[in-house]
Amino acid sequence: MGGAKTDLKLIDENGLRLDGRSPNELRPIKIQTDVLDNADGSAMIEWGGNKIIASVYGPREAYPKHTQNMDMAVVKARYNMAAFSVDERKRPGPDRRSIEISKVVSEALQTAILAEQFPRTQIDVFIEVLQADAGTRIAGLTASAVALAAAGIPMRDMVAGCTAGKVAGQIVLDLGKEEDNFGEADLPIAQLVKSGKIVLMQMDGDLSVEEFNKATEMIDDAIKRISEIQREALAGKYRDIALEEGGE
Ligand code: ADP
Repeated sequence: MGGAKTDLKLIDENGLRLDGRSPNELRPIKIQTDVLDNADGSAMIEWGGNKIIASVYGPREAYPKHTQNMDMAVVKARYNMAAFSVDERKRPGPDRRSIEISKVVSEALQTAILAEQFPRTQIDVFIEVLQADAGTRIAGLTASAVALAAAGIPMRDMVAGCTAGKVAGQIVLDLGKEEDNFGEADLPIAQLVKSGKIVLMQMDGDLSVEEFNKATEMIDDAIKRISEIQREALAGKYRDIALEEGGE
C-alpha cells in the first residue's frame, strides 16, 4: 500500500485489471457451512485466493468471571494467519496486526448479534486464514457471520463486507494481492446487510472525497451481492437438514 513502486501494469489499455477483472467486478466467492464437526457452527470461505475457516463456540459461560457482562454476551473473535498462508512463512502466533483485526472484527460481530439474549456468556469466533490473498479481514468477517448463523445464534442482521481501493488512479472493487501491495488506497468496509449500517471501516492510503464516495457506493452494492452468497450457503444447510429429516 501507499503506492509502492512496481513495474506491474495494474490496469491495462482496455481498463482491465491484472486478473482480467473490470473495476467493479468481485473475485469468485464460495461459502460452505458446517465444515467442522466439533464447532457449534462453522463456515469455509474461498474468496479469490483466500481460504479461510471461521468456527463458532458458544454462547458459554464467560471465563474468567471478571470478563462477564451482566447485560449481554461478549463476542471474542480471534483472527489467525497460518504460517503457510503467505508466500514467505509467517511467524506463528499473534502480532499487532492480528490483534487489531481480532478487535475490529469482534466489535462488528457484537453489533450484529442479539447479545442481550445471553448475559454473562461469551461467544468465541476463531478465524483461521489458511491461504491469504488480500482482503482476509473482510473475508474472515463475512465467513464468521455465516458460522454464527449456522450455530443458531440469533442475529439482528447479517454482516458482510468488501474492500475497494485505488489502483493506477482508478477506484476498483475487491483488491487482489498485487493491487493491495502496490495500489494507492485500500478501504475495507463491513455493513449490517438490511440496515446498511457500517460496523467496520478502515483505510490505508489516500482518497479524495469524490473517490471515497465512489468506493463506498461500489462496496454498498457489492455487499448486497455477497450477502446473497451468504444466504444461499445457509439455505443449503437448512435444505440438507430438511432432506435428512424427510428420511432421504
Ligand atoms: P487484509 O488481508 O485484510 O487485506 P492487510 O491489508 O493487512 O489485510 O494485508 C493484505 C495482504 O497482505 C494479506 O491478505 C496477505 O496476503 C498479505 N500479508 C499480510 N500479513 C502478512 C505477513 N505477515 N506476511 C506475508 N504476507 C502478509
